[in-house]
Amino acid sequence: MKILVTGGAGYIGSACTEYLLDKGYAVTVFDSLVTGHRDAVDKRAEFLEGDISNRELIINVLKKGGFDGIMHFAAYSLVGESMTNPGKYFQNNLGAGINLLDGAVEGKVKSFVFSSTCATYGEPTQIPIPENEKQSPISPYGESKLMFEKALKWYSSIFGLKYVALRYFNAAGASKNFGEDHNPETHLVPIVLKVALGKMKSIKIFGDDYPTPDGTCIRDYIHILDLAQAHELALHSPRSGHYNLGTGNGCSVKEIIEASRKITGHAIPAELVGRRPGDPPRLIGCSDLAKKELGWKPRFENAEAVVQSAWDWAKNNPEGYLS
Ligand code: UDP
Repeated sequence: MKILVTGGAGYIGSACTEYLLDKGYAVTVFDSLVTGHRDAVDKRAEFLEGDISNRELIINVLKKGGFDGIMHFAAYSLVGESMTNPGKYFQNNLGAGINLLDGAVEGKVKSFVFSSTCATYGEPTQIPIPENEKQSPISPYGESKLMFEKALKWYSSIFGLKYVALRYFNAAGASKNFGEDHNPETHLVPIVLKVALGKMKSIKIFGDDYPTPDGTCIRDYIHILDLAQAHELALHSPRSGHYNLGTGNGCSVKEIIEASRKITGHAIPAELVGRRPGDPPRLIGCSDLAKKELGWKPRFENAEAVVQSAWDWAKNNPEGYLS
């Protein structure tokens, strides 16, 4: 099977590309390199540098490429930035994404897998969160992803495009070759590990007055290789659907820092600061549906194993990607 991976030079897209290639798929990575890295593109993949906002280009690629499936990762993903620059999120994550959908229809692509997010739920009323929780995003980022899910539904009912939207919880960890390197970095695990590498003095804890046992926010850290496995299964799903991808277990900010101290052997000084706007206290996903319907079998069940793999990659790549 031939798969187009948009955003294949990004954090999750690069690991999924590697996973697909290991399984014998032919992969073309389409990435603008605005946030991705050329070195994060697996050498076995074909690489096309381009932006999905270039409608003519992406439609041509899909019309001529003979792709069986698309995995769509290319998106902006910072909640905070979306609160100050919402247009960037609606334009790219929704508007440019529509070019890809039109291309998928013109290119007669059989299967579309979308990188969605638990941010589409906003502040959930049930923990762990099931797929039928009300989707009520509290940021333009979450809203843009929900809008694209809705667009997919219409393309499915009008053109018969089969899709699976995967709502990730907190993607973390690394494969042997590919890991997390954002600029600027805002995510907890890579920042904690930067402190362990001596590149930062301390980690800032954003609030310890949340209604959780230790007062810090709880998240569900899911390994990117488990996400990759779910994407491959989703390609073959006989029907369209929406699935949560999480471990079902939560870990607080303090627990992540403590686990990282044990794994790295570094003291990792922490500094308590105020809350970060837009952070819900607890986000934990129920992924029973993905297990039942997609046959998903996540392998990394605890946060220590996730942090360990991120640390292994960080030690081997202390400067991140070079390009
Ligand atoms: N966090 C923190 N310090 C940091 C970065 C993140 O305390 O330097 C907290 C953040 O407030 C949240 C959790 O760690 O409660 C996970 O944040 P991250 O940005 O990694 O993922 P998010 O849940 O926002 O997608």
